[in-house]
Amino acid sequence: MLPAVCIAALGVIIAANPFGSATASQDLGQQASQANASPQIQHVILISVDGLRPEALLPPLVDSHPALKQFTQGAWTAQARCDPDISVTLPNHADMITGRLTAGEQGHGWVGNTDPPSRAMGGTLHAKREKYIYSIFDVAHDEGLQTALIAGKWKFALFEQSYGVDVGAVDTMAPDYGKDKVDCFICTHHPMDETLQQIAFLHSADGNKKRSFSFLHFGAPDAAGHGTGWDLADGSPYRQSLLVIDKAIGELISAINKSPTLHRRVAIVLTADHGGGVPFISHIDPEAAINFTIPFCVWSPTYQSPVDLYSINMNCRHQPAVSERFTVGKLPPIRNADAANTCLKLLGLPAIPDSTVNAAQELRLTKP
Ligand SMILES: [Zn+2]
Repeated sequence: MLPAVCIAALGVIIAANPFGSATASQDLGQQASQANASPQIQHVILISVDGLRPEALLPPLVDSHPALKQFTQGAWTAQARCDPDISVTLPNHADMITGRLTAGEQGHGWVGNTDPPSRAMGGTLHAKREKYIYSIFDVAHDEGLQTALIAGKWKFALFEQSYGVDVGAVDTMAPDYGKDKVDCFICTHHPMDETLQQIAFLHSADGNKKRSFSFLHFGAPDAAGHGTGWDLADGSPYRQSLLVIDKAIGELISAINKSPTLHRRVAIVLTADHGGGVPFISHIDPEAAINFTIPFCVWSPTYQSPVDLYSINMNCRHQPAVSERFTVGKLPPIRNADAANTCLKLLGLPAIPDSTVNAAQELRLTKP
């Protein structure tokens, strides 16, 4: 079973192993289980830019963001929504990882937004709900993919504690890839470090002839917003942070395109946990439009033709008015929680067991 790589780049190495190597039998099993997957897409990255307002992808700001601009050349919307009940970081990332909303009987239930308590003290999504809450890491790993969680905030240890060494669910499907669903967990505040780690992970998986799923979280815009506000004026710290993130994502795309084995074989879903600005140096009001409005974009070799995601999903999603979190009595909006099962769809893999958002992988990524 693949060992975990847990490098806490906040200065402490918790555990460090190679990215893992596949055995011949695992490779054969992987190929068999992926026979129906897209022949092109070998690797999917879910990028969450913490506190990313959709204006970053719209004129005029997008003209300063060449990397983000590429995400407007595929299926995307600037009118996606975060969780309907809560607009803070950790619950919204739990939405993205589990394909569930936070509240309700089927919700993952994690409302905390600080560093989680230790695993023994209840710091897992399963302890919160007193049952195993499946994630995208379970599905991808059990299907033989290599998996990574690269985060810009230490509180994401919640997901390593929920799906890491010895705490994930038993893999009941042969071959058995084990209970550690997160092969690589890295936490660093530096966006370019994150990108370099992401590129190294992709090359490692590729070199091992493994497909992969990565969750890549950038924290810089949120940090800038909390410092001096979600200020869209030229030269503001928030605007500067967007340039930093754009450069980091641009480096990633460039590395993918330069690699003969990765080029046209990687898809990226990009979204955010929340926007920000109400109150000005925060985003805690879930009813404020600038907090709940986020982008949702799919960048892939297969789907790279500009199209409004709502226009091709009118049978299953409704675009709310800009002031609405959702429209009462209508279909749900596109949410960041749609991301998990979208990523699995891109990989040709089934939805997360017991997930409730995009559970039928109904969100279309191309025109009918
Ligand atoms: Zn924040």
